[in-house]
Amino acid sequence: MQLAGALIAAALAFAAPAQAQRLDDHTILVPGGITPGRQPDGNSILLEGPDGLVVFDTGRHKTHSDAILAATGDRRIVAIVNSHWHLDHVSGNLRLRPLFPGLRVYGTGAIDGALTGFLKTSAAQGRQALASGKLSPSIAEDVRADLLTIDRGNELRPDIQLGGVQTLKLAGRNFMLGVSLHAATAADLWLYDPASKRLLAGDLVTLPAPFLDTACPEGWADALATIDKLDFETLVPGHGPVMTHEDFRWWKNGFEDFLICSGGERPMETCAGGWLAAARHWLSEKEVADFAGYAYYYGELLRSGKLNKYCAA
Ligand SMILES: [Zn+2]
Repeated sequence: MQLAGALIAAALAFAAPAQAQRLDDHTILVPGGITPGRQPDGNSILLEGPDGLVVFDTGRHKTHSDAILAATGDRRIVAIVNSHWHLDHVSGNLRLRPLFPGLRVYGTGAIDGALTGFLKTSAAQGRQALASGKLSPSIAEDVRADLLTIDRGNELRPDIQLGGVQTLKLAGRNFMLGVSLHAATAADLWLYDPASKRLLAGDLVTLPAPFLDTACPEGWADALATIDKLDFETLVPGHGPVMTHEDFRWWKNGFEDFLICSGGERPMETCAGGWLAAARHWLSEKEVADFAGYAYYYGELLRSGKLNKYCAA
């Protein structure tokens, strides 16, 4: 998620960084979080194989990569898979890469477009915001760290660029990896683990709201229909708690209703309220109140038509 200015200031706690959680004998979740006054981290998942570890997404903050390293123990990370280029999912690559020589990074080529487009613009905005002196100390620290990450953008590029759907052997285990184009971002990579029937969805699924900042809404809806056909029992979203397949359908319906409502004439109160009612499935009453701003923000973004540019082929 690339937070817009209005949301950066929101002093909200949501799924604040938690301890690593073992999901099964071969899978560990390092939960991301949205901590008051900070930029977010996405969820990371460690997949254990006979040849080492695969890390799916690496977070933004040092505290998050610390948690990944703690969960790694004395095992070797042999592969990183990045779901997409947002900095809350790839920044940790810079930390992990030099620690594990031979580690290979798998991702899409979409980071190239981001480095000359969105990230370049947001770096300029970040420098301006720092110069204004108006940022809180914690956000200023995050912006400075993001600027250093963007400066090293070339090192974020994957060793192996993926597209389409394929089975890959990573760390001695077979996984299915697929790429959805023009969805939450220009290219979103998901990973399906047939052994555990678990889908790692990246930001194709996010809470407390769909993070539409760089999304093509219709393409995203198509991607949800595609992954719904996979035979998964549980799904790890890019942000938020692990879901069952039924939970995912609930999320998907909420997403589709939100798109339709925001694309129509009804008051934004109705659309945002509809999303929040769906999100009540996961969020407490307090969280729904705290995060109402996200639903309005993304609803207005959908309504503005500004996202259409992300649908261009
Ligand atoms: Zn994210």
